[in-house]
Amino acid sequence: MPEQIQAVKGMNDILPPDSARWEWFEDTVRALMRRYGYLNIRNPIVEPTPLFVRGLGEVTDIVEKEMYSFVDGMNGDALTLRPEGTAGVVRAAIEHSMLYDGGKRLYYIGPMFRHERPQRGRYRQFHQVGVEALGHAGPDVDAEVILMCRALWRDLGLADVRLELNCLGQPAERRAHRAALVAHFEAHRETLDAEAQRRLHSNPLRILDTKNPAMQPVVEAAPRLMDYLGEASLAHFDGLRRMLDAAGQAYRVNHRLVRGMDYYSLTVFEWITDRLGAQGTVCGGGRYDGLVELIGGKPAPGIGWGLGIERVLDLLQQSGTAPPPPVPDAYAIVPDAAALPVAVPVCEALRASGVAVLMHAGGGSMKAQFRRADASGARWALVFGASELAAGGVGVKPLRDVAAAQATRPLADASAWAAELLKR
Ligand code: ATP
Ligand code: MG
Repeated sequence: MPEQIQAVKGMNDILPPDSARWEWFEDTVRALMRRYGYLNIRNPIVEPTPLFVRGLGEVTDIVEKEMYSFVDGMNGDALTLRPEGTAGVVRAAIEHSMLYDGGKRLYYIGPMFRHERPQRGRYRQFHQVGVEALGHAGPDVDAEVILMCRALWRDLGLADVRLELNCLGQPAERRAHRAALVAHFEAHRETLDAEAQRRLHSNPLRILDTKNPAMQPVVEAAPRLMDYLGEASLAHFDGLRRMLDAAGQAYRVNHRLVRGMDYYSLTVFEWITDRLGAQGTVCGGGRYDGLVELIGGKPAPGIGWGLGIERVLDLLQQSGTAPPPPVPDAYAIVPDAAALPVAVPVCEALRASGVAVLMHAGGGSMKAQFRRADASGARWALVFGASELAAGGVGVKPLRDVAAAQATRPLADASAWAAELLKR
């Protein structure tokens, strides 16, 4: 026997019945996006590697060690499986001059790829929903994208996801803070771990993000970026906070929230749960006013977030939220294959009227087919048996409701009685 081939480590098949949860989640997301006026964008999964190196920043976890990068053997192009969605959306917005007539509100749903150590809530192919609002500078849009997440948690029936906020200011403000930060960490060099030592001069802000418990005291005592912000940045942050307050959205200002990508400015935020262990961030985002220019476009502001679908679904499963199971309304039983030319058009007419009909395939006795009908979860069996057919009818037999009566319905005009199969 040939050797079995297995999926790539950290990349998962999503199978029924679990896929029903995914479809239900995606339906919920699409309905939400419609209510907020966000339009769907579908970018390629592969992009030129320089897009991410330039867009995310060279000294980031993603670019340093997580990208699936390869050389296209056909032409030598340097390509990367997208590790996140923002850079590709911005590239497309520039390439297609999407902002020429004003701002755009966009969303995507799809796979992302990062070469990380697989564990619960951390995979090598995972999926994100993301929004990107391009061309809008005000904190009103910051509030909008944040409140969309709250609405999503509500629509999904999720409690216990809390909001953390920070303001990263503008590049000049970060430079001033950075000098103070480097001086602080240099004065405590002996307490820094190897990664922090390495980042001390390349990306000291990221040291604040450390999960190393031994470094907590020195990180707690570090100078706060907030104290280096100018009036405009503070006013932006204050404007956002006032809108969130007015909308009744609680949050914690986390001075150490810096996010992984270089492209952020002003507002950054994360939605966090305590119920997923170390992988507790379900959604993260922020403002990236310099990114469009960095990628070669005419300067334009932007803000967005990315949400990890696997983590949200894990949370939903834990809280016992189950989408309605995808069961058919009716299961068609055709004991004699000779009756198929009669049964097929009846099932088609019922489906055209909105009835979910699962038709038995593969033959077998009446008894065996009834067993399948039972297992399918259908409320009705449609029996195309010899005696029913002889009378020009099909037997309609209730499978769940013992009190309901069995009936025979005409083959000729199924749309006339389709509605009774939809009753619950
Ligand atoms: P983390 O700190 O957990 O590594 P991150 O800051 O790298 O997250 P982002 O780049 O902000 O994550 O991506 C947004 C969201 O995508 C995360 O909040 C998380 O829910 C999800 N996510 C990120 N990486 C993975 C992964 N490898 N597997 C599953 N979900 C992921
Ligand atoms: Mg990460």
